Amino acid sequence: MNNTNKTRTGTLIAIQDSLVKARFFSNVIMGETAQIMVDGKSLQAEVLQIAPDPKNPEAGIAEMQVFEDLTGAQIGATVEFTGKPLSVLLGPGLLTSIWDGLQNPLYKLSEQNAYLVPGMKAAALDEEKLWDFTPSVAVGDVVSGGDAIGTVPEGRLNHKILVPFNFDKCTVESIIEKKSVNITETVAVIRDKQDVKHDVKLAFRWAVKSPIPFKSRAIPSKTISTGVRVIDFLAPVSYGGTVGNPGPFGAGKTVLQHSLCKYALADIIIMAACGERAGEAVEVFKDFAELEDPSTGDSLMNRMCIFGNTSSMPVAAREASVFIALTVGEYYRYQGYSVVLLADSTSRWAQALRERSGRQGDIPGPEAFPMDIPDQIKGMYQRAGADEGTGGSLTFIGTVSPAGGNFQEPVTQATMDATGGFWGLSQDRADAKKYPAIDPLAYTSSVYDSFISWTDRNKMLQTLDEANGIDQTISTIGLKKVPLEKYVLYQKGLTIDFCVMQQNAFHEQDACTRPDRLVIINEAVQKLIDSSIQFAQEGMEDEEVKVLVKNKFDELRQWWRDWNGTAVSSEEQAVLPQKVEQFILQEEYSL
Ligand code: ADP
Ligand code: MG
Repeated sequence: MNNTNKTRTGTLIAIQDSLVKARFFSNVIMGETAQIMVDGKSLQAEVLQIAPDPKNPEAGIAEMQVFEDLTGAQIGATVEFTGKPLSVLLGPGLLTSIWDGLQNPLYKLSEQNAYLVPGMKAAALDEEKLWDFTPSVAVGDVVSGGDAIGTVPEGRLNHKILVPFNFDKCTVESIIEKKSVNITETVAVIRDKQDVKHDVKLAFRWAVKSPIPFKSRAIPSKTISTGVRVIDFLAPVSYGGTVGNPGPFGAGKTVLQHSLCKYALADIIIMAACGERAGEAVEVFKDFAELEDPSTGDSLMNRMCIFGNTSSMPVAAREASVFIALTVGEYYRYQGYSVVLLADSTSRWAQALRERSGRQGDIPGPEAFPMDIPDQIKGMYQRAGADEGTGGSLTFIGTVSPAGGNFQEPVTQATMDATGGFWGLSQDRADAKKYPAIDPLAYTSSVYDSFISWTDRNKMLQTLDEANGIDQTISTIGLKKVPLEKYVLYQKGLTIDFCVMQQNAFHEQDACTRPDRLVIINEAVQKLIDSSIQFAQEGMEDEEVKVLVKNKFDELRQWWRDWNGTAVSSEEQAVLPQKVEQFILQEEYSL
């Protein structure tokens, strides 16, 4: 990190929305942060460019983006350059926290004032809370960045107190005994190779644009149980994987993110609500505090933290919020935990970059996005990954909200290039209330391992695909011309779609399906796919038979939907394949 931390000042000479210019007489560094003093408050800004001052050979001009609302700022205002890059405070207490896009704790701020006021500041992490520190090194030990010097319990997790990542081979000079301490107290002193001593505390700051390293990066291979059937069956995601989730407005991106947030099996979930409606974010804050973590029974917030940077907050902070969230994710990954980062929406993030580059007068790329938008998006998703060395992982699932649902636009395209997985939400499916509206025929996945065999998955997919084709045939040439055999196949596909792929995110029982249940469902699905069912009776007209087929399948689908919503115990679950078998044999069966 930067060691120039002498405070230097400058003067504001131009303001254009969130972009400002300041004249300075000392040296200023690209990427360092600055505070702009407005009415006794300081607004956070970041230096984007430095140029010589054409009017004054001794001065320079710093171009900066300001992360907070500049209302009331005036030319001539004092600017303090901090010498430090934009950073995030990492330490115990991150979990359960809710911040804005700059890690200002929203709850703390709302205690000060009902409305967020620019320049309001509160410590990112609680400075008074005491943590039970247990040391794990002794005086004389040699430690490097990322090594743990001790632990504190944080909820159910063991939070490792890490040596900041920029240190190499330091000797432990002193370490406290097991004791309760807050994050401002020194717990160890380490001496670097230049004999300089450094205090180690429970928390430290880290630059958000410097990725926290991997110990030993590995290919993501273990599949996450997300609870969402269409994902876990057809387009699974692994611990450390990346997924882009584009969909038009109202297609269910946010509902899907909330489902993942509640049900994805991971140690930690980080939400970056980026540029979406404020009302939605407020709901999340309220709801999630009361919800239970389905795997532990704890409050859901105990495994979560939220960066709420809604559409009503300054656009520039969106850019910061995603980087901050990524850095927090990397920090917990380094501790060996599985982290899922959900960003909604990365399009709003990209819009922030577009606004900025537009104001800076950069040569625009397609649709006025910066030329390097594909690289920036890639850079963001590359920070996700699995770490064999620590056993941790950071999974990144980002929504994309292309205008008009056009997946050809630059951000969707760049996201598809950057991510291993892709879940495309379809307007048609959302209009037909087929939720989650992930098009079972428009997605990719890069998972090597799954909850069902690859053959079974492909058979499911093929049936859905063929049924889709027959559906189109029916609507173009009419049902009459479709052979009975094809019509039965069509009904099988409809059943898999209606009973398996569709899932009600708001139904207590249906909202989440775990792998043991997926296996039972798959057994039933495979039986159905493989079956040849004898519906026709002697003397029946083709038309009559088709009506009969439809009615029979409707009955099955109705029963199956009810089963989705009710069968909880293992006995009740096991009934599904039996029922399907009876259906196939067309035996008398009571529904
Ligand atoms: P987006 O974020 O893509 O604009 P939302 O996630 O807000 O869309 O979803 C819009 C609406 O669609 C929701 O308010 C809800 O009524 C419905 N919806 C979406 N997904 C589901 C689902 N899985 N189950 C039930 N309803 C859903
Ligand atoms: Mg949304």
